[in-house]
Amino acid sequence: MVKIAAHHIAGTPEHGFSSMLHSNPDYTPTCAWPDDCMVQWGHGLVPAVPFFEAFPVGTFIRGEGETIAAAEQQAFEKYQRDLACDHVWGRHREGRGTYTNGAAFCRKCGGFRGSMFCPVIVLGHMRKPLSNWERDWLDSLENDHELNAHMDRKYPADAAGRRRSARMLRIRLNQFGAAPATGEAAA
Ligand SMILES: [Zn+2]
Repeated sequence: MVKIAAHHIAGTPEHGFSSMLHSNPDYTPTCAWPDDCMVQWGHGLVPAVPFFEAFPVGTFIRGEGETIAAAEQQAFEKYQRDLACDHVWGRHREGRGTYTNGAAFCRKCGGFRGSMFCPVIVLGHMRKPLSNWERDWLDSLENDHELNAHMDRKYPADAAGRRRSARMLRIRLNQFGAAPATGEAAA
């Protein structure tokens, strides 16, 4: 069974919130999406185009159309093209430039994968003083124990990354200092 996003399922907190925003039209997907694929749909805000989005493992597919059913059909056709393609992956996205964050785009079908390559890192990009917001961020990572405990409970998968950010910011502060405060904080 395809996974329906929580905000479409009556009785969930997400559904209550989404219904309040009138962004949650009733709809039942009809295409043969894989079991582990999450799907959602709605009407865009500006412009108000019906859309259907699917998140098969590793990728993201969006269809748009006159109706949500037409949008699902378009998304499913893109998905079928992706499945049938003998992909040629690259970092370049047609008409949008080159992505350095590890995302990949197929030169043949336009298919997308979120993390196919290693991110391109500029050497020495850590060798500089902390900006004001990084100084604030480090302060909260090191001292706001209540917030950190809350974030760890809410986003357990990100906990290790948050510790790493704190260590990196602390090393940069020790080695390179912080940029002078600007605006009101400097007065
Ligand atoms: Zn392809």
